[in-house]
Amino acid sequence: MAGRADVAELAAGVAAGDRRALARAITLVESGRADHRADALALLARLRAPGLPSAGRAALRIGLSGTPGVGKSTFIEAFGLMLTAAGLRVAVLAVDPSSARSGGSILGDKTRMERLSRDPMAFIRPSPSQAQMGGVARRSREAVALCEAAGFDVVLIETVGVGQSETVVAELCDIFVLLLAPAGGDELQGVKRGIMEMADLILVNKADGALKPAAMRTMADYAGALGLLRRRAQDPAGYPKALCVSATTGEGLAGAWTDMQTLAGWRRENGHWTARRAGQARHWFEEEVRQGLLSVLGQASARARLDGLGAAVEDGRMTPEAAAAEMLDALRRVDASRPA
Ligand code: GDP
Repeated sequence: MAGRADVAELAAGVAAGDRRALARAITLVESGRADHRADALALLARLRAPGLPSAGRAALRIGLSGTPGVGKSTFIEAFGLMLTAAGLRVAVLAVDPSSARSGGSILGDKTRMERLSRDPMAFIRPSPSQAQMGGVARRSREAVALCEAAGFDVVLIETVGVGQSETVVAELCDIFVLLLAPAGGDELQGVKRGIMEMADLILVNKADGALKPAAMRTMADYAGALGLLRRRAQDPAGYPKALCVSATTGEGLAGAWTDMQTLAGWRRENGHWTARRAGQARHWFEEEVRQGLLSVLGQASARARLDGLGAAVEDGRMTPEAAAAEMLDALRRVDASRPA
């Protein structure tokens, strides 16, 4: 992949909704190579330029988080098939923190969501096998933008509930959904308050068969807990909400979709939609700057300086403060545009 002609062709393919072009475009934004990076930025800019059908497109971005085993793949398959049957195009992306750490993936398994992956109205992209968490965020953000440009109506962004990745997903989506399993006792499954506060909908999955009573109790517990949170200006009355669903029987899925649409519609009408996306754009701008600074710090010359000053601090020739001031001063003179 190189050259402007290729980028133009790829942009046209993505804008036309061609899934193969979309897959290639995501591969391009995932690449760490400097020339690929330049092409990726050109591609994203081109897709936003007026003239192409991709320019003004906006998908409903739904973030979905849940611990392994809670039923995410089963839910996405059933929910996705319900949406495609209704004529909507659905893209599924995974933000997988395990792949950032180890190169292995919890979510990347291709055999997941078998029926949905064969559906011509759907596009499923496993998480890349290796990236830094900062890289995961950038890649995910750009992949979402590409799916949107390709005319998908709904982009589902899936993550495992283990902390950092949820924050990334919350900053990428319009609606954040937390998927839970029925609890055995009356404990709130150790869901952190911060995660609860991010959730727009809590779906208690597996509300079927013998698990149904437990699911109902869990839902009631969470409804109570949500009721104690401060009402957010961006929500109509009654939200955030806890519901019971069964990914296996399909019960509750239509209701969950109705709630997502109600919430999205209300936020659109009241300006919260645009405000949230604007806030997210700002967040990602600052995050890119932070990542850029870290990569400057990783450059050989900066590393050498850091080591030299570190040694001086260690053997008492400089105070930590003086050494830090000198380091920061040196960084100000480093060309931040140079790749690491
Ligand atoms: P993930 O790790 O979150 O993606 O979870 P999976 O979708 O792989 O589901 C984990 C297990 O829970 C599988 O054995 C599923 O069959 C089961 N499961 C998923 N959804 C439901 C449900 O709605 N009801 C019941 N009873 N089991 C479910």
